[in-house]
Amino acid sequence: MNLELSEEQTAVRQLARDFVEREIAPHVIAWDRAEEVDRGIVKKLGEVGFLGLTVAEEYGGSGGDHLAYCLVTEELGRGDSSVRGIVSVSLGLVAKTIAAWGNEEQKRRWLPGLTSGELVGCFGLTEPGTGSDAGSLATRAVRDGDEYVVNGTKMFITNGTWADVVLLFARSTDAPGHKGVSAFLVPADTPGLTRRTIHGKLGLRGQATAELVLEDVRVPASAMLGEEGKGFSVAMSALAKGRMSVAAGCVGIAQAALDAAVRHAGEREQFGRTIAHHQLVQELISDIAVDVDAARLLTWRVADLIDRGLPFVTEASKAKLFASEAAVRAANNALQVFGGYGYIDEYPAGKLLRDARVMTLYEGTSQIQKLLIGRALTGVSAF
Ligand code: FAD
Repeated sequence: MNLELSEEQTAVRQLARDFVEREIAPHVIAWDRAEEVDRGIVKKLGEVGFLGLTVAEEYGGSGGDHLAYCLVTEELGRGDSSVRGIVSVSLGLVAKTIAAWGNEEQKRRWLPGLTSGELVGCFGLTEPGTGSDAGSLATRAVRDGDEYVVNGTKMFITNGTWADVVLLFARSTDAPGHKGVSAFLVPADTPGLTRRTIHGKLGLRGQATAELVLEDVRVPASAMLGEEGKGFSVAMSALAKGRMSVAAGCVGIAQAALDAAVRHAGEREQFGRTIAHHQLVQELISDIAVDVDAARLLTWRVADLIDRGLPFVTEASKAKLFASEAAVRAANNALQVFGGYGYIDEYPAGKLLRDARVMTLYEGTSQIQKLLIGRALTGVSAF
């Protein structure tokens, strides 16, 4: 793999840095305290092309490769993980999945809006009773003429209350386990679909996370994404690439932790000199630096494999597992460098830690990533 960025990739990273500096950084603390990112950010993300990365231009996308997508995601994660997550879901889990699995009509209907930021997408897989064991989901879609009638509840859905379209997973046949699951593109204003914001999150507080309740929601059969019974494959393919996006966001968190720790260590004085002079503070900083590099290299490798059309799924699990745990460690080490100031939200380390923590939980917990890696290596499924 060539680790040198092309001119185009360097330019897109700079564009993302400038965007974060201008549109996100000034608001991070206020959005976190208010538990709401300004929704206007979505349109701005669309205008600058960040919601269309890797999607073909004929559908409103801005093209680019997966390494460019990683670079942008990293910078957004460095700025605010709540904003990064909006992109990772609306583009990463929804638009890219429609681009991969949709028919011409579905692509033309949804992609221009999602890539421009006119529309927001959400990914409805998790339910109150099924998280890690997503293939056992209980939401049902029963065929009635040219429609399906959907009933069920979805839990912890990122962008849930903002979304215009839900990529929804429901059981549409009696086939056992995940074989009965199909994917549907459901407009969020369909009668019978109600949403409730989930408040009180530890981190990603600015993000609109919701519970979705579906009561006799009528969806045309033409809204099915991919074939009947292939919904779990749709979900798993979305999450495989999604894990690269989460990993890139974690690299951004770790990088922000490193920047903040180095800056603070050079300014704060104790025992007559800056704390950068104390060896144990240097240990904290060097541990963060190694985590940043290792997480970034694992993540970029996934992007490189995808861009070259090579198998990447296990590598994506490794990157997501390592980068998410590394982001938690890095943010925690940065908080230690800040001492008591790290514990209040005027300083960045506490929010980085709170935001990082969920990365080891969603899109497959760390335990689930280990089982996926273990299955790939041994051929034995321990699920
Ligand atoms: P459980 O599956 O109940 O797991 C609990 C614990 O048991 C974990 O430690 C887990 O690792 C462990 N465990 C479970 N099974 C095994 C096993 N076989 N072996 C070893 N350990 C095991 N979901 C969506 O569909 N769309 C979204 O947009 C979305 N966004 C989210 C945003 C946030 C802020 C959060 C918190 C969650 C989000 N999720 C979303 C849901 C997320 O993907 C799930 O929370 C996650 O998959 C874990 O499921 P669970 O919470 O039910 O935990």
